[in-house]
Amino acid sequence: MSGVYTRLVSGLLFPLQERLKGHSTVAVRRALEASQWWSTAQLAEYRLERLRALLLHAGRQVPYYQRLFADHGFDPATVTDVADLQSLPLLGKADIRAHLDGLKARDARGLARFNTGGSSGEPLIFYIGTERVSHDVAAKWRATRWWDVDIGDREIVMWGSPIELGAQDRLRRLRDGLMRTRLLAAFEMSPEKVAGFIDQIRRFRPRMLFGYPSAFAHIARQAEADGSRLDDLGIRVAFVTSERLYPDQRQLIERVFGCPVANGYGGRDAGFIAHECPAGGMHITAEDIIVETVDANGAPVPPGTAGEVVVTHLATRDFPFIRYRTGDVAVLGSAACSCGRGLPLLEEIQGRTTDFIVARDGTVMHGLALIYEVRDRPGVQAFKIVQESLDLTRVLLVTDAGFDPAAIGQIRAAFGQRLGEGVEIRVEQVDSIPPERSGKYRYVVSQVDSQQGRNV
Ligand SMILES: [Zn+2]
Repeated sequence: MSGVYTRLVSGLLFPLQERLKGHSTVAVRRALEASQWWSTAQLAEYRLERLRALLLHAGRQVPYYQRLFADHGFDPATVTDVADLQSLPLLGKADIRAHLDGLKARDARGLARFNTGGSSGEPLIFYIGTERVSHDVAAKWRATRWWDVDIGDREIVMWGSPIELGAQDRLRRLRDGLMRTRLLAAFEMSPEKVAGFIDQIRRFRPRMLFGYPSAFAHIARQAEADGSRLDDLGIRVAFVTSERLYPDQRQLIERVFGCPVANGYGGRDAGFIAHECPAGGMHITAEDIIVETVDANGAPVPPGTAGEVVVTHLATRDFPFIRYRTGDVAVLGSAACSCGRGLPLLEEIQGRTTDFIVARDGTVMHGLALIYEVRDRPGVQAFKIVQESLDLTRVLLVTDAGFDPAAIGQIRAAFGQRLGEGVEIRVEQVDSIPPERSGKYRYVVSQVDSQQGRNV
C-alpha cells in the first residue's frame, strides 16, 4: 500500500512544503536518526553544548533572562553540567503570562503565536520560532518511522476542539489531501457519529492512526459491540497522545484495530517530549529536550521517583522554555532500552497534577484510586469524577439497563472511605458527558491544588 506514493510525499512533497515554510525539518530529522544511536556520553556532551549556547543567547538577546540571570548572579559561560540549570528558578505558566514580550528574543525569527486550551481550561499564550517548529516536527517524524510508517502513508487523525477544526482552511485541506491524512472530529461521539467513523475508517484503510486514546477506545468499544471488524485493514500502528493512556484502553485498541499502540507524550507548549518505540521504551527526545522531575518544592527527585515534569527545550532560542513546569507527573527511568537507542527513558507517565485527588486529611492520591471504584461496575457506560473542593466530590454517571441502582450507595461509601469522613459525594446520573473544551475526555478533574504554591 505505501510504496511509491509514500516515497513521493516523504521524499519530495513534504520536504518541499517544509522548505517553503523556512523549516529545516528534513535535515534535523536526518541528524536525529543518527544521534538516536549515540552513547550516553556522546549525547550528554552534545546536550551540554547546546544548553550552554541556548543560555548564552538568552543572556544576550532575551530581556526576561537578562534580568533573571543578573538577579541570580548566573553566568551561562560557567555552565559545565546540565545540573547547573538547577540554580535557575522554574518557569511557570504565570511567569509566561506576566512576561510574554520579555521572553521574545530581540533577534527572533518567524515567531508564531500559539494558544493552548490547557486541560485545566486555563489558556496559555506563547510563541514558537522557526527553529523550534523544525525540531518538533522532525522529532515526531523520527518516532513515526520507528514503527515502519512514514509521512505520506494513509493516516486517520482523531483530533481536537471545534475551534481547531474551524480554523481548518482550504490550504490545510489540500495539504491533508496530499499527505493522505483524514481528519475525524473527536468531540462528537454519539453512537451515530461513531458508526460513521467506523465506516470511514473501513473505506479509507489507513496505515496508521493518530489521536486521543479515549477516542480510539470509544470507537473500538462500539465496533466490538456491533461486530464491525477493523483488524483486517492493514493498520500498522495507533499513535496516541495528549491524555493518560490506561492499560485497558491499550488492550482494547490493540485487539479491535489489530495493531500495536504507540504512546506519545508532549504538547505544543513543552514540545515533543517522549515517544514509545516498538520495544516498549518511552524514549525522551534527549537531543532537544532536557527533562527534570521535581517535587512539590521544586527540588529535583531521582530516577524511579514520581515528580512534576520540568523541561528545557534546547531549540527555543526565539522564545526560550527553560525549566518550564508542565504540570504533568512522571517517573524518569535509568535502564537502557532493548532496542539499542541511547535515548533515555520515561518509566511512567502518571498524568496531570489535576488528575490527582486530595483527601480531606491532605493525602494526595492518583485519580485511579477512585476510577476503579466506578469503571468496573456493570452498566456504567461513561463517567467523570469532579473534585470540586475538599468537602465535595461529584460523580457523573451515564448508565444503561444493566446498572444496579444499589451501586450508587456503594460508590458513595467507597469514595467516602478514600476521601475522608464527612466529605459529600454527589452521584449524578446524566445522559451524556461532554468532553473538555479541548475535545479531550478526562475521567478525573480536581479543582483542589495538590501541590502548594503551584501554578496549575
Ligand atoms: Zn527503545
